[in-house]
Amino acid sequence: MKIFGANELLEDVFEKNLCIGCGACTYLCPYFRSYRGRTAILFPCNLTQGRCWAYCPKVEVDLDDLSKGFFGRSYEADPLGFHRSVKISKAGRQVSEGTFQAGGTVSALMSFALSKGYISAAALTDREGLRPVPRLVQSPDDILRCSSSKYTASPTLSALNQAINEGHNQIGVVGTPCQVLAIAQMRSNPMGDKDFSDPVSLVVGLFCTWAVDFREFDAFISERIEGSRITKVDIPPPPAEIMEVYTDNGKIEIPLDEIRELVPDIALRTTFMVGFPSDSEDKFRLLYDFCREMEFDHLGVFTYCQEEGTGAYRYGDPIPQELKEDFKRRLMELQASISSNKNKAMVGNVRDVLIEGRREGDSYPYWGRLSIQAPEVDGVVFISEGESHPGEFVPVRIEEGYPYDLVGRICSLAK
Ligand SMILES: Cc1cc2nc3c(=O)[nH]c(=O)nc-3n(C[C@H](O)[C@H](O)[C@H](O)COP(=O)(O)OP(=O)(O)OC[C@H]3O[C@@H](n4cnc5c(N)ncnc54)[C@H](O)[C@@H]3O)c2cc1C
Ligand code: SF4
Ligand code: SF4
Repeated sequence: MKIFGANELLEDVFEKNLCIGCGACTYLCPYFRSYRGRTAILFPCNLTQGRCWAYCPKVEVDLDDLSKGFFGRSYEADPLGFHRSVKISKAGRQVSEGTFQAGGTVSALMSFALSKGYISAAALTDREGLRPVPRLVQSPDDILRCSSSKYTASPTLSALNQAINEGHNQIGVVGTPCQVLAIAQMRSNPMGDKDFSDPVSLVVGLFCTWAVDFREFDAFISERIEGSRITKVDIPPPPAEIMEVYTDNGKIEIPLDEIRELVPDIALRTTFMVGFPSDSEDKFRLLYDFCREMEFDHLGVFTYCQEEGTGAYRYGDPIPQELKEDFKRRLMELQASISSNKNKAMVGNVRDVLIEGRREGDSYPYWGRLSIQAPEVDGVVFISEGESHPGEFVPVRIEEGYPYDLVGRICSLAK
């Protein structure tokens, strides 16, 4: 992978508004620092290659290379990553005092690793009010103090850099997927240091679909909660559709729709199964109304199929196939009109598109995807004009919107 320096990082990540404030580029040198949820460069640096670029998860990252280095296998884009098995767990009594987010497994793992000497310190995320604060901790009590999720982008990896600067060489880290990607880059010794030894002994990655900008979230919450100390923020599983904010003075509930407005370019997609043995017209109607109200950006629907070895096998397959197909058709028609309106609303916007393929001799010479279009299941953007090549991000002015796909031309304007 070609490595560049701070100037290219500013151009490719900051100026394109891609920085997620992970902290990987901070405290490597005197130049990059985090302040109240944002990362900034304090002085210009003219080195042509640097760790700031090499560790950043938002530059072009060769996932295949990383995957081969860590797992000895090509990258397979499995949403769960390579895994041996899936377990359900929660913390045991020895660590039962924390304000855990969802059972405390993460804090328990870190605590166990510290007590057994597998790690000498952990880079975690504490909170001051709503602000996530990176912490380098060395005691089980401090690990528990950092428990619970802060749903804001956090410069947690500055604590990892701090640990490395202090000479720790058995560090534990908890991070979101982008942060874990940055850690993988650090651990792959991208600068080719001769005396490199991997300073990280344990990485716990969190499932994460979005995080909000701290400053906007802080302003939003301050209007609703005055003078109370926030102790925990939670998003209970669907269909709750709320964010719960726990304070010294009780709990308040905020509809998720209001929070979503703080997340730029968020897209909601899901897939439903229709025709399950207990389905009925009334139940289908509930689902239909829910989808109409939610206005998902992308929706997939498939019909139930009785499969031997599944828990539902014993319920038989009482819904006629024609009715299952009818449920599916009605939902897909509803979604087509929702998607069509959303896609038409994008006409005139300039959006970053990842070029995925070339269509020789076609009136649309390329096709690609927006960040809100999942590969293979959602629509695509057909490019009518402009030059590019697969793998490149290009600004595209959207000119036509259809139920599934968009049409646009490559332009020179950034977003
Ligand atoms: C921004 C964010 C979004 C998430 N979105 C989802 C989701 O959509 N669906 C889902 O099932 N789970 C999501 N999670 C994961 C979930 O909230 C819990 O973290 C996870 O289930 C572990 O629970 P626990 O009780 O074992 O963690 P705990 O024992 O409570 O420990 C939580 C750990 O998370 C770390 N942490 C907290 N906030 C951050 C942060 N902003 N960045 C990096 N590390 C942090 C802390 O250092 C602590 O070690 C998200 C987490 C985060 C931070
Ligand atoms: S190139 Fe090196 S010295 Fe310059 S900002 Fe990046 S990490 Fe710091
Ligand atoms: S390393 Fe993290 S904080 Fe630094 S520019 Fe990249 S995304 Fe932003």
